[in-house]
Amino acid sequence: MSVENTAQHYHPETLAIRGGRESSEYREHSQALHLTSSFCYESAEQAAAMFLGEIEGYTYSRFTNPTVTAFQQRLALMEGGERAIATATGMAAIQAIMMSLLKAGDHIVSSQSLFGSTTNLFAGLLAKFGVETTFVDARDLAAWEAAAKPNSKLFFLETPSNPLTEVADIAAISAIAHRHHALLVVDNSFCSPALQQPLKLGADLVMHSATKYLDGHGRVMGGAVVGSNALVEQVYLHVRTAGPTLAPFNAWVLLSGLETLSLRMEKHSANALELARWLEAHPAIERVYYPGLPSHPQHELAQRQQKAGGAVVSFVVKGGRAGAWKLVDGVQLISRTANLGDVKSTITHPASTTHARVAPEIREKAGIVEGLIRVAVGLENVQDLQADLARGLD
Ligand SMILES: *Cc1c(COP(=O)(O)O)cnc(C)c1O
Repeated sequence: MSVENTAQHYHPETLAIRGGRESSEYREHSQALHLTSSFCYESAEQAAAMFLGEIEGYTYSRFTNPTVTAFQQRLALMEGGERAIATATGMAAIQAIMMSLLKAGDHIVSSQSLFGSTTNLFAGLLAKFGVETTFVDARDLAAWEAAAKPNSKLFFLETPSNPLTEVADIAAISAIAHRHHALLVVDNSFCSPALQQPLKLGADLVMHSATKYLDGHGRVMGGAVVGSNALVEQVYLHVRTAGPTLAPFNAWVLLSGLETLSLRMEKHSANALELARWLEAHPAIERVYYPGLPSHPQHELAQRQQKAGGAVVSFVVKGGRAGAWKLVDGVQLISRTANLGDVKSTITHPASTTHARVAPEIREKAGIVEGLIRVAVGLENVQDLQADLARGLD
């Protein structure tokens, strides 16, 4: 196996296409898909040396696999990290981080606007194992500071948040975490390394739901953790033992996803910005949430931290739930689904789907009002998307 073009000095678009590529003795031009659970040894002596870790090499695909390694190396280069470990899903990535770096009695400080399963993982599963979490408003630096305790080992945040696109200041929060001798972990699923590189802003680890924009076409589940050699080694040892490993086929699909990531994220963002501007001027819309709009309360921070606004636009339709449902039911092109991270645009009504189990008072207070709609803007022609929304708004 040879790995080419792993030098850090290439630009991101080049690394996305050539970084971490491995080729076998056949010197194939595209990344080969190695569908094998195990690998053979040349001799008893080589097997012994590999099992002792004296020499490197592939032994079993729960540990390492050439296709998965290529994906890990490419993503690490794109995030500006030393190493990455891939996982079966985004949730498996978060779980692997927590199970490998924390123990009973430790404390997490986390942003409160999180992917639903992440909230459940922290408040449910981790609590059961003696790890407590304090949730804070990600925009409130004083709240992060106040929530830190002597046993706080890890800060966790998602930015921009879903669905209200609140932006967390990664550099400032990493400084607070480090002052308290805690690590900062950033869920970078929404921006991807094409728009935001948290490790360069002081984060210790980045995690991904590769299911979203890294794949970008809604085909496979996957996850990843990126950071320093020392931290990722600990996460790797957990994955290797506990087994939430990424399948080689999914790694192979994700490798081609990465090749077009920056092109896609640029276009997702351009479409989203155009749609957000149009919505802001529409008489049936009360309010639009999009970091790329000057009216966004943290527009300046988003400009500093992100290359563009990303794909997710949320807005409040006049007429509460009735107005929102009329819009959701009126679309013919945009997909009615809670999923996102796809070339196909999607529309959802958070109050009755993703946030339906949250108590109505808490939901309203958090801004998830009855008229709120979230659109994850895809790569269709933006005029077609406007026309589709206009049908339900007029
Ligand atoms: C989807 C998602 C996850 C979970 O990832 P899975 O691949 O579904 O396990 C975590 N964080 C964010 C921001 C997500 O959108």
